[in-house]
Amino acid sequence: MDRETYRMELSDRHDRPGTRRPRPPVPRRLFLGTLGAAALLGAAARPAAAATYPLLSRAQWGANEALRHDASGTEIWPPAYYPVQTLTVHHTADGGDGLAPAARVRAIYRTDAAEYGDIGYHYLIDDNGQVYEGRWSGTDGSPAHDGAGRLVTAAHIGGYNSGNVGIALLGTLTGRSATPAARISLARLLAELARRHGVDPLAEVLYRNPASTAVRTVPAISGHRDWASTACPGTLHTDLPYVRREVADLLAG
Ligand SMILES: [Zn+2]
Repeated sequence: MDRETYRMELSDRHDRPGTRRPRPPVPRRLFLGTLGAAALLGAAARPAAAATYPLLSRAQWGANEALRHDASGTEIWPPAYYPVQTLTVHHTADGGDGLAPAARVRAIYRTDAAEYGDIGYHYLIDDNGQVYEGRWSGTDGSPAHDGAGRLVTAAHIGGYNSGNVGIALLGTLTGRSATPAARISLARLLAELARRHGVDPLAEVLYRNPASTAVRTVPAISGHRDWASTACPGTLHTDLPYVRREVADLLAG
C-alpha cells in the first residue's frame, strides 16, 4: 500500500462502496467457483489444516494489543466476520527496508493502528518466508479467522475488504522480484486457504461485498492491481499466473 491507498483503506474499514470507476467487464470467461456457491449458501468452511510454512502469531512477533484500544479500553475497530470469497496479494511498500523483519511488521502495525485501529493485512511474509499473523481475529488461535472459519474483515482493498483475504510480502517489489523463500510460503499459504475455503486458484470469481452493494469479477487469486489503480504488488503481479499454477499443483499433490 502507499499513502494514497491508506486514505482509501480508511473508508474501506466501513466497507462503503469505493469511489473509483469500476473496470470494464473482464472479457475472459467467468467461472463461479465452488467457493462462490458455498458462500452464497452459507456452507461451513473446512477446518484449518496444520500450517506448512513458518508462522508467527501476533504475540510471537510482539504485537502490542494496547494499540488496538482507545484510552477507555474499547476496541477501536471491532471485528466483523464473513465467509472467504477471494485471495489478494500485496507488497507492503512501507519504506522499512532497514528494519529487521519482525520490527518492520511492528512498525507497519503501529502505522496502520494509528489510522484504522489495527494492521490492514491478514498475513505478512518476509524475505525468508516467515509468515506473520496480521489483523486480530479473536481468541480461538486461528489467524485471520473466527472459530466458525469466517474471515475477519481487514483493510487492504478500498471498498472490497469483507470476505477478501489480504496477504502482503514485506518490501517494495517494483525494483526486484519476491525471494524464492517468500514465494514458497506465499504459495503454501494460498494453497491452505484455497483448500480450506473451496477456492479454485485458476478460476475467476464474482466477488460480492456482503457489507455493501459492491460487486467485482476478479481472479480468485488476485493482485491489488486487479482491484484498483496501484503499483501494488509490483513484479509479483506479473508472476501471479505462475503462483496460481504453483497453488494448483500443491492442491493436486
Ligand atoms: Zn496493495
